Amino acid sequence: MRTDYSDVSFWLATCPPYQPNAPLQGDTRADVAIIGGGFTGMATAYSLRKADPSLKVVVLESEVIGFGASGRNGSFAMTVIGLGIDILTMLKGKHNALEGHRYMERAVDAVGEQVEENNLDCDYTRPGFLRMATTPGYVKRIKKQIELVQELGIQGIEWLERDAARAEVNSDLYLGAWWEPRMALVNPVKLVREEKRVVQSLGAEIYEHTPVTRIERGADFMLKTPGGSVTAQKIVFATNAYSHLFPMIRRKQIPAWTYMIATEPLTDKQYEAIGWQHRQGVEDARNLIHYYRISPDNRLLMGGGPVGLSFGGDMQRDDSASAWQHLEEHIHYVFPALKDVKITHRWGGPFSVTLDLTPALGYVGDKRAVYSLGCIGHGVSMTHLNGQTIRDLILEQKTDLTDVFLVNRNVIPWPPEPLRLAASLGIRAYLQIEDWAYERELPKR
Ligand SMILES: Cc1cc2nc3c(=O)[nH]c(=O)nc-3n(C[C@H](O)[C@H](O)[C@H](O)COP(=O)(O)OP(=O)(O)OC[C@H]3O[C@@H](n4cnc5c(N)ncnc54)[C@H](O)[C@@H]3O)c2cc1C
Repeated sequence: MRTDYSDVSFWLATCPPYQPNAPLQGDTRADVAIIGGGFTGMATAYSLRKADPSLKVVVLESEVIGFGASGRNGSFAMTVIGLGIDILTMLKGKHNALEGHRYMERAVDAVGEQVEENNLDCDYTRPGFLRMATTPGYVKRIKKQIELVQELGIQGIEWLERDAARAEVNSDLYLGAWWEPRMALVNPVKLVREEKRVVQSLGAEIYEHTPVTRIERGADFMLKTPGGSVTAQKIVFATNAYSHLFPMIRRKQIPAWTYMIATEPLTDKQYEAIGWQHRQGVEDARNLIHYYRISPDNRLLMGGGPVGLSFGGDMQRDDSASAWQHLEEHIHYVFPALKDVKITHRWGGPFSVTLDLTPALGYVGDKRAVYSLGCIGHGVSMTHLNGQTIRDLILEQKTDLTDVFLVNRNVIPWPPEPLRLAASLGIRAYLQIEDWAYERELPKR
């Protein structure tokens, strides 16, 4: 049984020592069995036990809580949905884009409420979000996005001119920025472990090192694991980028990989040079975004750029020397003052992608099985509200959350291999070509 997870992410490497729960041994019964112990699994167990303390809720996690994307991410709890509001509007129309954005506003607030209500120790801050324009083309793109949000009636997002953007974070690449105060940063491993603590205190059972290896669907569900089984009336797939490994939801999503690096703590001189006093979360305006933040101990954490893909059920794509190299060079490119800074951590992880690049949740078959997937690298906040939506689906209650277009929508299936890989390569190539076209104007250094 694996015990050392320090190579999985910076967050897992730097968290206090952790004692996982024992694996499931023997057979047990549950009202609701949740497969997957990330934010979705924790938020669902929390919402269900709060709503009905008589429900027996069991969570089964194949490794440890936070092993998946929830323990590896950039930690931005933000309103971005799918690949962004302009792409969502193009794909799903204005009505749905507005509804999706409102859902995400609630999701960002839900993280803050959860942290406050349960006093979660997770380095939560709410510094806001900057989307930096690095070429004149990106200036136009971001201004058009801001026009769109204003037309939709969304408030609180504004354009910062060049000098105002550079006054927040000092790079001579920046030509202006999208500024949005509604955005929080966390330590994601601390958060998910704190959520585990609260969920257990509410009476849910959590088993770690307990992979679900088979699901039999009958009058009840039978979930098989190496050490025992769970017979459950209802089940939840909180398995995100691993969901294609389950025959019941095989075609709804594919995994794609994003990579991150962390520097050593910056010296006072280095930190002063980049002038990032308010510690906002920063992204650029690409399709395959770069995202970066400053940790509480003044490291620069940067992720994004190259995206990894795999064939079939292969989940072994967490390492990418070329992506890490790209990110290191990108740090030097954006912040030349950091050219001597050392990289101390390199990692990657899978996020979940639907064919129409839009998140989805809903029932599978009848109302006894619920899935949630497709956050496209923007799931830190969304998973927290999804937990409440899944609760309503499991309890078969029609609410404003279950009315959102993301729920029980028609999810276009990914084709079988080798077409699946061909389709995902095609989508990635399109996004890369568009980025390349915008970036022809980038200054050479
Ligand atoms: C490197 C990286 C950076 C990211 N940055 C951001 C960001 O800054 N902001 C943002 O909003 N989003 C970000 N994301 C996406 C975000 O982290 C995810 O959308 C979110 O964490 C998904 O949570 P989840 O609980 O649905 O899935 P996960 O956290 O992936 O949890 C799924 C769990 O299911 C378990 N599992 C799988 N198969 C089985 C099985 N057979 N039996 C039992 N358990 C199983 C896995 O071990 C895993 O723990 C990032 C993702 C990555 C990888």
